Amino acid sequence: MSQGFANSRNSEVKCSCGRAAVVHTGKNGANPGTKFYGCPMWPNTSCKMFVPVDDKKVVDELQIKLLESYTTIGEFEMIQKFNEDRIKDLEKKNKDLLQKVQSLKTELWEQKLEVMRANQKHLSIALFVALILVVVFYNVN
Ligand SMILES: [Zn+2]
Repeated sequence: MSQGFANSRNSEVKCSCGRAAVVHTGKNGANPGTKFYGCPMWPNTSCKMFVPVDDKKVVDELQIKLLESYTTIGEFEMIQKFNEDRIKDLEKKNKDLLQKVQSLKTELWEQKLEVMRANQKHLSIALFVALILVVVFYNVN
């Protein structure tokens, strides 16, 4: 199997020997024009690196999508945090309002008791006056 190659450097991908892989373009073989990552020393090397560039592209695209997913997750987490803070805030407001309602209820009861006491006082006076009128009436007769 004999192939000729046009080489171009690509520093992102490394060969198994640690050297920066280069992009080879197959000139012969089954698919001439196919680009793949290979050892820069090829063919004078025992390295068998053969990674089609398209696969690398797919991997890169998946990594970009993964990063985008992380960003989306981060945004959702921020929204969730915001909503949690809002819920806490609303719960606090609700608690404050319930306390206010309780305090107003207590105040209302105190006022009702005061009215009842005043009514009792008026009733007592009325009864006292009635008693005096009865005594005066019997004494007159
Ligand atoms: Zn190599």
